[in-house]
Amino acid sequence: MTTLRVCALYPDLMNIYADRGNLAVLRARCEWRGLGFELGSSSLGDTVDPDAHDLFYIGGGQDRDQVAVAHDMVATKREALHAAADRGAVVLAVCGGYQLLGHSYELGDDELPGVGLVDLRTVREPGPRLIGNCGIEADLGTGPRVIAGFENHGGRTYLGPGERPLGTVLSGHGNNGRDRLEGVHRRNVIGTYLHGPLLPKNVWLADRLIELALGARLEPLDDTLEEAAHASARRAAGV
Ligand code: GLN
Repeated sequence: MTTLRVCALYPDLMNIYADRGNLAVLRARCEWRGLGFELGSSSLGDTVDPDAHDLFYIGGGQDRDQVAVAHDMVATKREALHAAADRGAVVLAVCGGYQLLGHSYELGDDELPGVGLVDLRTVREPGPRLIGNCGIEADLGTGPRVIAGFENHGGRTYLGPGERPLGTVLSGHGNNGRDRLEGVHRRNVIGTYLHGPLLPKNVWLADRLIELALGARLEPLDDTLEEAAHASARRAAGV
């Protein structure tokens, strides 16, 4: 049986927006199709086997928790995450986790290191938190689609030259409230500020991530309820 092998990174620390909902959706979408689903985890001090998982997931976290996670991820998981991304494993990082995928997260006098999977920097600038419903247009190889969710971040993220965003902002703030870009997308590494959680509101994205992780096409499911959840998130964002 084909099995999606997922590794949740720091599920005990990076989970402030019901991020477990994203894992529940991945499990359901697999099991409803008769695919296996295996969930492992790796937290402070644990190593990661880059070949043992098809999809790595890290959720949102508060600045306080991000300090320990940032240092630990660089010390114990950076090489493995690079090896996994290099062989095409999916990495999905939401909000606080997304901020740690790049080079650094500057918080006043502190600078948290990132794992450098993508070329971006995040800065805690003066100014209000970027909060609210958000809609973006993204193309993960199957044509432009809408991702709708909720964002809540103090950090502003800036992509390096040549780095691609996950999508363009239709409504809301996105990476920094200025350049109308949201998230990051390099090969199968995806970062985004959208939660709510993300995947229950956008099951097409969950399916696409499973397809990319397994290198397979999925047959459609009856998504009447899921489409209603998506439509409701889009209405909230005004897109
Ligand atoms: N602590 C980070 C910020 O405020 C991320 C918060 C989050 O994950 N929502 O920018």
